[in-house]
Amino acid sequence: MSVRVDPDTGLKIFNTRAAKASDKIAGIGYAVNDDLSQKTLPEAPAGAVFNADEQAKYREFKENRSEGGDYIPLEGEFAGYMEDVYSEAPIEREALDDECEILVVGAGFAALILWHKLREAGFTDVRFCEKGGDVGGTWYWNRYPGIACDVESYSYLPLLEETGYIPSMKFASGFEIMEHCQNVAKQFGFYDHALFHTTVEETKWDESLGRWIVSTDRGDKMKARFVVVANGILTTPKLAKIKGMEKFQGDAFHTSRWDYKVDLEGKRVGLIGTGATGVQLVPELAKIVKDLYVFQRTPSSIDLREQRETTDEERETWKTEEGWARARRARFAKISAGRSAIRAPDDYLSGKVDSFKEPRKNKSSVRLTPDELKQRQLDDNFEIMEQIRARVDAMVDDPKTAAALKPYYPYACKRPAFHDEYLPTFNKPHVHLVDTAPRGVAEINEAGVVHDGVEYPLDVLVYATGFQWMEPATFEMIIGRDGKSLKQKWADGGTRTFLGMQSAGFPNLFVVTGPQGGGGSFNFTDTINAHGDYILWMLETMREKKSDVVDITEESEIEYAAHCRKVDEDSAYLRDCVSYYDHDGKAEPGSLLYYGGGKWHKIRVGAQETLEPYIFSAASGN
Ligand code: NAP
Repeated sequence: MSVRVDPDTGLKIFNTRAAKASDKIAGIGYAVNDDLSQKTLPEAPAGAVFNADEQAKYREFKENRSEGGDYIPLEGEFAGYMEDVYSEAPIEREALDDECEILVVGAGFAALILWHKLREAGFTDVRFCEKGGDVGGTWYWNRYPGIACDVESYSYLPLLEETGYIPSMKFASGFEIMEHCQNVAKQFGFYDHALFHTTVEETKWDESLGRWIVSTDRGDKMKARFVVVANGILTTPKLAKIKGMEKFQGDAFHTSRWDYKVDLEGKRVGLIGTGATGVQLVPELAKIVKDLYVFQRTPSSIDLREQRETTDEERETWKTEEGWARARRARFAKISAGRSAIRAPDDYLSGKVDSFKEPRKNKSSVRLTPDELKQRQLDDNFEIMEQIRARVDAMVDDPKTAAALKPYYPYACKRPAFHDEYLPTFNKPHVHLVDTAPRGVAEINEAGVVHDGVEYPLDVLVYATGFQWMEPATFEMIIGRDGKSLKQKWADGGTRTFLGMQSAGFPNLFVVTGPQGGGGSFNFTDTINAHGDYILWMLETMREKKSDVVDITEESEIEYAAHCRKVDEDSAYLRDCVSYYDHDGKAEPGSLLYYGGGKWHKIRVGAQETLEPYIFSAASGN
């Protein structure tokens, strides 16, 4: 039975997890690479400094790409690109019109972590609505060949100690991560609370009841006291808007809906997009297909990967070391610079040594002025990018291909990529880089891609064109006290939240890892943990105060939004390029990612001590 009632608790128990669509939808991440020459970053060329010439080069690179094309919504004739190809048809079930205490949108890492916290604290009347057929979120949807995490799995995977699981590799494959999510869900009874293949279509606050009314595409109309939006920040796939794309006669799909029914062996395959996804895909595709055409608009920075297997020593140590993963994640989180965090040495992360810092070359004890400090950061950043560019020359044989693969923008301005096999893959005779800079692929016809008057006939076309950043469809369907959606409120008056988690006029609503949401590190699992702890604190505070409803004051969100703008503007000089992080330069400063580091925690602690930002009340209906 897909819905039944637990005789002990009176709560509904669900059985809606869909069966896997095909056994082919499983795989492994890319393997350990033993070629040492591919695992060292060359020195930066001697005398390279970020002088006026180099700055002009970066500027030109940016300006050229500012005209990059648009994306299209995956609706109408493109709706097929959104279909769930991973699960069998949805499990039949009755529509629900009852009430639960906490309704969570999503069943990815955030939902699993939140459930674990809530359950431990005795909140059990919790319901999860998930568009997909199973848990995993990002790792449910993204199953392309070569997928793996980029943050080390020992710090990234949630609930390792609680499940006794030790990842097989430093960068676990997406398939392994997905399986871990399923095991977490099984172990902690998550499946009983989850409505899969259920898309929330509207969440509307009912002032008279003091409840959210949540409607779904399965005909549900449920009441919930609290709603938590936990469906991720890179959720809605994007397709580049390209003239004639609907005409293509071969198979075409987006990387987050990988079509395993299409056999790629012996085929001519085109790949549009060379972000983090494209970079992981290229070496794996090259192992299978007859010809691979990689259509690149902007090259990613390809840093060292150094994939490795988990050692026997680690396994033995962690079996008996209580709290090993929490401690490791906490050490990881102490590092504020992204590259240092991602490349932190194992000796530091495992607690064998206290410092993660490499001694600075030519270290001077002179105190720097703010301008000097800024210049030093830009110089250091330039030096890393010089090394990354030198790596391209060292690894790619054809000078024209190498030149096209070199990125000219500050490190981490665009999402950095890490790989030891990507660059040498372009030395294979059947792998062709098609440089489409600065505008990108602009035409597709029945046969394939057309660029600069050349037709590239293809059997299969793969779009690795990414996702909408920090703007899931969810924000459009949350209707607050004054009848406006969250999206509309932010469009009218700018993005305004408190801590990125609450917004005035949207009582009893929490957003996890949304715009302006800080509190974590380069490891999103940290942010999710911080947000989960905050929600739990709020629920417990309300329990103690016997309060039904919490909203925040307008002043608190105005002040917080101003803070987000300032920390973004203050650090913007390090992010001067065209990037999805700021919606290709179109976003208002402070409206997306939070750049204040540890300041988020200071603000949070202040709020929790004074309770000043909060308006607690009883529900009008009570
Ligand atoms: P993405 O970073 O947004 O990359 C999209 C790519 O498509 C870019 O290279 C973009 O070029 C290109 N593009 C768009 N329109 C084009 C056109 N008309 N012609 C040619 N190229 C075009 O998307 P993604 O690679 O899927 O990555 C999204 C995010 O998901 C990552 O940044 C990361 O946060 C996450 N991710 C994580 C992992 C991991 O941890 N293992 C793996 C994959 C993805 P421009 O750069 O010029 O816009």
